[in-house]
Amino acid sequence: MNYDEDKIDEFTLALLCLVVHQREEGLGARAWKGFDWETLNRLHDKGYISNPVSKAKSVAMTEEGFLKSKELFERYFTKETKTIPLPKFTDAAKKRWNQVPERVRKDIIDAVWCTRCRTGTSMQLLEGTMSGRSLVLRGTCKQCGGEVARVIEPAEE
Ligand SMILES: [Zn+2]
Repeated sequence: MNYDEDKIDEFTLALLCLVVHQREEGLGARAWKGFDWETLNRLHDKGYISNPVSKAKSVAMTEEGFLKSKELFERYFTKETKTIPLPKFTDAAKKRWNQVPERVRKDIIDAVWCTRCRTGTSMQLLEGTMSGRSLVLRGTCKQCGGEVARVIEPAEE
């Protein structure tokens, strides 16, 4: 099998973060060392851990190694939390939008023309403002992320 050793090193280093059992601020940490020996040796060569060849069940991580491990762990194993911003509405726009029945509101948002996709699409609603008596909804296309807008004429629904 053709291993990408650097990748294995990265993931192993990241997982070491999970088995740290002793951390000294600024001085690294100790971690259980039940990992592939060759990988641990390479991590030692790279300066992330002390020499893994010892009778101890754990290995010392250098401060650099610990910080790198933490960074990699967060990059690879943290669940992505997509924060969708709440739409910003002016008071007048919010009042107007709330007059639209909920079912119709959904239909409006799910039927927006995207000039980039050249098709009807759903809008990720970002803001609502009034333009004269019309409500202007702005947001992004859920397919391509491009800007889309929808104008609700007075009493359209
Ligand atoms: Zn689009």
